[in-house]
Amino acid sequence: MLQNLKTPICSFDARMGVLCPKCDAKLRSGQLTKTDVDVSIKLTKAAEKSTDIGKMSLTKAIKVDGDYVLVVEPGSLAPLRRDQSLQKNLQGILGGKVWLTEANTTDRKELEDLFFPVRVANVNTAWLPDGSKLTKVVIPGKKTDRFPHDTEMITRILKETREMELMIEFEKQ
Ligand SMILES: [Zn+2]
Repeated sequence: MLQNLKTPICSFDARMGVLCPKCDAKLRSGQLTKTDVDVSIKLTKAAEKSTDIGKMSLTKAIKVDGDYVLVVEPGSLAPLRRDQSLQKNLQGILGGKVWLTEANTTDRKELEDLFFPVRVANVNTAWLPDGSKLTKVVIPGKKTDRFPHDTEMITRILKETREMELMIEFEKQ
């Protein structure tokens, strides 16, 4: 099947499951991680059967606890979201919850992507007396049992991927 899947490693490496000297050097220098390599190989295999995965342009994969944060090329996430089964499909392939975000993005967009499909009302940043930055996100309405995300996990992901200290507030308590 024709596929244009892009991954952080060469498509040849991803198909063969071994790294060429160039990608291997990147892995050893830390420019690539083992998660990048593992996810690239798994998605490449899955893309043979799924055209939707074949449309992805993965730039990075980060594992936070058992969850996967898949970072795709800037501007490429919205079209992927149109396929509502993609996320579930990815979760089945990787065996963990999948969060989709874009590379080189703003704090606000990153928050919108992680909270998706929940809307983000406001994002404010404040500098604390010790010089650290605190980001506050306001979510409309109030938190119900049906809220789709583990907010503590979102906080952890942002801390690990962007060194962001996040405070989540719901408009109504
Ligand atoms: Zn390579």
